[in-house]
Amino acid sequence: MQIRLAADLQPDSIVDGEGIRTVIWTQGCPHKCLGCHNPQTHDVNGGVLVDIKEVYEIIDSLEGQDGITFSGGDPFVQPEACQMIASYAKKKGYNIWTYTGYTYEQILALAKKNTKYMDFLKEIDVLIDGKFEISNKSYDCVFRGSTNQRIIDVQKSLAKNKVVTVSKYDKTDIYNPRKRPKGVYI
Ligand code: SF4
Repeated sequence: MQIRLAADLQPDSIVDGEGIRTVIWTQGCPHKCLGCHNPQTHDVNGGVLVDIKEVYEIIDSLEGQDGITFSGGDPFVQPEACQMIASYAKKKGYNIWTYTGYTYEQILALAKKNTKYMDFLKEIDVLIDGKFEISNKSYDCVFRGSTNQRIIDVQKSLAKNKVVTVSKYDKTDIYNPRKRPKGVYI
């Protein structure tokens, strides 16, 4: 099994989810959001093909990381490879965050036609869903670019059969350092 990556794995990120994380930049995205920061990741034939065993070896060599974040690109363009890597990383003790331009509901609809989408979704702890909407761009959100995007607790959502967000991230205005009241921290 191979995965098409847009860049090398990036350890030590503090902006792509909670804690210190390693980001897997997947290649390929169909969403074409206006204002996307990573247009070079859109071409499904771009980037480089990497054997997922090489990704496993990099995960094995990581130190001081709290979790793995799939970003891109849209990781749901390659659900099978991402599921295998997520499963491997979880067994090593890492939590899994994933960015996607699809909404949670759209992923459930895709999963009805192809079980690989659900297989990947089941491995994810936190999903940041939805397209980047430049009209809803906000610097007050943490870990996301526009207010339409949700930070979803996937395991609770699957168990309750409805979207459950990570409530501590529902508020937006405390994350802007210019607006943050004294004594309030993330
Ligand atoms: S989903 Fe993400 S990578 Fe894809 S176009 Fe939108 S912002 Fe860019």
